[in-house]
Amino acid sequence: MPVLHNRISNEELKKRMLEETEKRITVSFYKYFHINSPETFRDELYKQFYTLNVFGRIYIANEGINAQASVPESNFDAFRDALYAMAPELNGVRLNIAVDDDGRSFWVLRAKVRPKIVADGIDDPEFDSSKMGTHLKAAEFNDLAAQPDTIVVDMRNHYEYEVGHFENALEVPSDTFRDQLPMAVDMLADKKDQNIIMYCTGGIRCEKASAYLLHNGFKNVFQLEGGIIEYTRKAKAEGLPLKFIGKNFVFDDRLGERITDDIISNCHICGKPSDTHTNCANNGCHLLFIQCEECAKEYDGCCSAECRDENRLPEEEQRARRAGRENGTMIFNKSKDHPLRKRIR
Ligand SMILES: [Zn+2]
Ligand SMILES: [Zn+2]
Repeated sequence: MPVLHNRISNEELKKRMLEETEKRITVSFYKYFHINSPETFRDELYKQFYTLNVFGRIYIANEGINAQASVPESNFDAFRDALYAMAPELNGVRLNIAVDDDGRSFWVLRAKVRPKIVADGIDDPEFDSSKMGTHLKAAEFNDLAAQPDTIVVDMRNHYEYEVGHFENALEVPSDTFRDQLPMAVDMLADKKDQNIIMYCTGGIRCEKASAYLLHNGFKNVFQLEGGIIEYTRKAKAEGLPLKFIGKNFVFDDRLGERITDDIISNCHICGKPSDTHTNCANNGCHLLFIQCEECAKEYDGCCSAECRDENRLPEEEQRARRAGRENGTMIFNKSKDHPLRKRIR
C-alpha cells in the first residue's frame, strides 16, 4: 500500500517528472455531492490514483470533490474508469482537459480533506446551493451575452481577470471568493431583473455564486457550464466566435493558458504589454505578479532590485534575513499599496 505522504523532496520529485518521457494529460474535474466520510474517500482515491502514477491536487469535503490532475497518457482510460466507479455521482463527471498543455503541471499527488471544496463564507442556514443558475453551453452563452440587457460577471480573482476575460465582463475586484459573493450582490443590486451570466475558470465557483444570487432575489441568473475551459474547447470544436480575450489563468505550474493572441495587461515593473505571471524568485518574497521578458532578465525573475540583490546573497545569509520577517502568500494587487505599485507610478 502506498504511503499517503511522500518523503522525497520536492526538487527530487520535480526532477523525476521532468525526466519522464511519456506524455501527460492535465485534467480538472469537480462534483458537488454528499460524501459521508471524506477521509475514507480520500484514502481510497489516493490509493487508486497513486497506482496509476497520477499527480495533482485534490480537495475532498462533505460537499464534494474538486481536483486538478496530471495523468500519463497510457493510463488515461484506466484513470477515467477508476474515477467513474468511485461513486455513482462521479459516473460520467465532465473531465476538463487543459487546452495549451505541456503536461508538466504537477509532480506529486496531494489529496486533502477540507471543510468545503470552495470556501464561500456563507453561514445562512436558508441558503440552498442546489437551487443554482441555469447552465449555458458555449453557443447559448454567445447568444445571451450579446443581448443588450445581459450582464456578464467574472467570478474569479482580480489577477485572473487582469490577463484575460470575456468581452465587457464585469470585474468583482476582490481577493477572495468569500468577499466576492456579497460584493457581487451589492454591485448588481439594481439589476435584479436583468439577465446575469456568471463565469469562472472551470465552473465550480458559479454553481455556488449563481445560487447565492438567486437566494438574494435575482431572477434571471445563468452560469457558464464548465467555465472558460469548457467554453474554449466547445467554441473551438464548433467553430464559434471566441468571446474570451487573452489568457486563462490556471493554478498550476503554467500559471495560464493562452486563449487568444491579445495581450490585455501590462508588466507590473515597466508597464509594457505582458501577461506572463510569475512568482518573485526571491524565496523571502514569492510575490505573484506580471513581468515582461526584459524585466525578468534585468531583475533575475525578482519583483524588485531589493529582491534581486537579496536573492544573490549566499543561502545562509538569505535565511538569516528571512528569519522573523513575515512571509505569507503575496499577490500583486492594483488596489493595494504594495511597494511595487509605488515604483510604477
Ligand atoms: Zn517589464
Ligand atoms: Zn520580491
